[in-house]
Amino acid sequence: MQMTVLASGSKGNSTVISSSKTRVLVDAGLSCRELVRRMAMVGEDPSKLDAILITHEHQDHVTGLGVLARKLGIPVYFTEPTHRAWVRMMKPRTTMSYAQWLIHVQQEKEARARAVAEGSAPEQGICDSMSAAVEADRTGTTCGEPDEPETSTSKAKADPAFLPAVEYFHSGRQFCIGDIEVTPFTIPHDAADPCGFVFSSEGVRMAVATDLGYMPPNVKAALKRIDVLLLESNHDLEMLKDGPYPWSVKQRVLSRVGHLSNLATAEFLERDYDGSAAYVVLGHLSESNNAPELARMTAEQAMMNHPTLLGNRIVLAEQAAPINPICI
Ligand SMILES: [Zn+2]
Ligand SMILES: [Zn+2]
Repeated sequence: MQMTVLASGSKGNSTVISSSKTRVLVDAGLSCRELVRRMAMVGEDPSKLDAILITHEHQDHVTGLGVLARKLGIPVYFTEPTHRAWVRMMKPRTTMSYAQWLIHVQQEKEARARAVAEGSAPEQGICDSMSAAVEADRTGTTCGEPDEPETSTSKAKADPAFLPAVEYFHSGRQFCIGDIEVTPFTIPHDAADPCGFVFSSEGVRMAVATDLGYMPPNVKAALKRIDVLLLESNHDLEMLKDGPYPWSVKQRVLSRVGHLSNLATAEFLERDYDGSAAYVVLGHLSESNNAPELARMTAEQAMMNHPTLLGNRIVLAEQAAPINPICI
């Protein structure tokens, strides 16, 4: 299995997880164009993605979602509350009761069925749309601009929240995409229904756990026997306190539904982590309230106090560029 963090931080998050047969994207928090560009940088072919999975609806996790999913014609996996929150975000002027939401979901299903019946299903145009995206990338036009033709139905063009296919999952309930087994778990964060994921295939387990205010027992339990662990190490407490954020934002970050500090991550590594990962990737580092070396040092110190963890390698995920693919 392979994990490639394309971007990590408050300006955008996206990670490719692949087995030999299946390839999924966790979050699409950069523009479609930038996601395609970064995948090309690490030798990943976007047209080979099988699905996009979304952890939660915050902007830094969904920026390129609609455009990318429509370009590739691949399904998006959400929990239903996350999908609904995302649709609300995409249509800020529309109020939607739960009854109206159910009608909306039904209408989308019918639109997709019509698209398939009319032969304009997005699946037919993956290669065309991807070469258009790559071409757009090369020529400097963005693949995220609304006037660019997208391979989908006319409904898709009119509706920014239209997706070629949507699959719902529930935290705690395992499901499969190709030969990857996915176990979503609930995380404490200020979004509609946020989650992390454990991916398992060919005897290897990889986990993504960012955007969480603290480490509750269910997350500690989910992060056992993991081979590659992408774990949040968001801020240094002192830097956050002295930093530029307004007080209300500082309170939000520090809260039980905010983000994990370097110290909280170190405490987890020292007290609760089983030491099974060959790689611990520290992610979602704040650019204003953290320094990469500070995050690394805090995690390394925690591991030094714990001799069984000395075999773990620490990698820092970056905001500005993809990291080298980690292969197990
Ligand atoms: Zn985030
Ligand atoms: Zn978030």
